[in-house]
Amino acid sequence: MSEPSLTLRGIASAPGVAIGPAHVLVRRAVVGGRRRVPAAERAAERARLEAAVATTEAALEQSATSLGDDEASGIARALLISQRAILRDPQLVAPTIRAIEEGGLGAERALERSLRALEQRFARLGNVAFRELWRDVEGLGAALLAQLREGEQRLLGVDPGDILVAGAVTVRDVIDLVSAGAAGLVLEEGSLTSHVAVLCRSAGLPAVTGVEGALRAIKDEAPLRIDGDAGVVQRVDAADVAPPAEPPPVPAAALDAARGDENLCLRANLDLDLDAGRARAHGASGVGLWRTFYLYLGRSKLPEEAELEAIFRSVLADFAPEPVAVRLLDLSGPFADHELPIALRGLPDCRGVRLLRHRPNVIQSQLRALVRAAPAGALRILVPFVSEVDELRQIRGLLAEIAAAEGLPIPAVGAMIEVPSALLQLDALAALADFFAIGSNDLGALLLARSRDDPSATRGLPPALRTAIAMIVEAGARHDVPVSLCGEIASDPSLTHELIELGLRELSMTPRLLPAVRFAARS
Ligand code: PEP
Ligand code: MG
Repeated sequence: MSEPSLTLRGIASAPGVAIGPAHVLVRRAVVGGRRRVPAAERAAERARLEAAVATTEAALEQSATSLGDDEASGIARALLISQRAILRDPQLVAPTIRAIEEGGLGAERALERSLRALEQRFARLGNVAFRELWRDVEGLGAALLAQLREGEQRLLGVDPGDILVAGAVTVRDVIDLVSAGAAGLVLEEGSLTSHVAVLCRSAGLPAVTGVEGALRAIKDEAPLRIDGDAGVVQRVDAADVAPPAEPPPVPAAALDAARGDENLCLRANLDLDLDAGRARAHGASGVGLWRTFYLYLGRSKLPEEAELEAIFRSVLADFAPEPVAVRLLDLSGPFADHELPIALRGLPDCRGVRLLRHRPNVIQSQLRALVRAAPAGALRILVPFVSEVDELRQIRGLLAEIAAAEGLPIPAVGAMIEVPSALLQLDALAALADFFAIGSNDLGALLLARSRDDPSATRGLPPALRTAIAMIVEAGARHDVPVSLCGEIASDPSLTHELIELGLRELSMTPRLLPAVRFAARS
């Protein structure tokens, strides 16, 4: 007897049609790694664990030395030192090595076993203070596991062609899905402006989010058809399904007609794909937003300054003479803590430029790398999540010092306008900014006091956001400060005319969505 038909509706979060078996992620496989390791490979497995311990220890050391001299940094340093002590404790690593060598377990599973044994011992101590201490051990265990998993492709256990069905996933999970060759994504949570949806669109992974009850309704391995343009998920009869059609190409004539339109400048938002050739092929003129947090994701150590400089330099050179707006690190997830470098884990309220308060060295290191890379192209530095004028002033001050020390010019600096308090300080911000970039994803959500991941948020331009955009455009015009928009509404062709009517002439979006916006602008 054939299964009853099933149709679920959600948000059309990333275009494209995908057909494939459902891979239902009810409970995340937290451990991963190999179940059994043959005797001949155990020495290598032990070495893998020891390398992970060494890297984690080095990262803790790096974090401790990167802290400032104030009281809070002193406490943080003490905590990091105590974490290093835990790492060296014979009750953690030694039994793990034994479980690998004698028990033949994979390093992840051996570590998990040692952690569980320690957890039980802590629980027996029965004291609240010890329970808190256990949190430190647990956090360290997660860091070690993350280190072991670095480079591991199949975190979610997805096979090529699968459609992952889950409650929520992290941005890092989407990267893993793409590299595992998954066909699509269905989520119970998530909205159009979620970073997960943003990344799916940029990676070309069809996605339907906000699908209520998906986990209950969809059985593992059920053949699914998802339509990321219509927001529909269906269980299908595998035999009946034709392969998904290629999306219709945007007429070349429309692209050519729009190129060189001096009234509208369309730029690329960059995340994982930093390829200038591909962005240009979609018609992008330079970069309006480079989300640099991808350079930090999935590694336990912070990138070295020289590595950052080399990446910045190469992207700037590839896009030259077009400008590239590099956004300073904005920890804007969703991330699992262990997906971030240890120095960035567990930080309170650290969106955007606020990171300067907690990890000044991370921002300074980005700024130095940027100043040094700047001669390679047309750099613009974008300061995210500005909520106080002073934040922009501080970045300007740091840049002036760095540029003077390096004997190099100070690059252009812009403010992202994405926090409502910035709307109330536009004149003062304009006096300090070389340009404004409207972050409508955050601004829209914060103006309406809702999460940007809220699936009930509707498509379109809420009146408050419309008014805010008009205010920013007017302030820009008053002070001769150019204004661009790089939130997801920039890539919605049904809004292009409205945005142009509001006075915007520069829109930045994920490159593959750009032709449709150009087409809309011209039609
Ligand atoms: C925004 O907030 O609109 C934006 C462009 O930045 P992000 O989506 O990375 O927060
Ligand atoms: Mg933002």
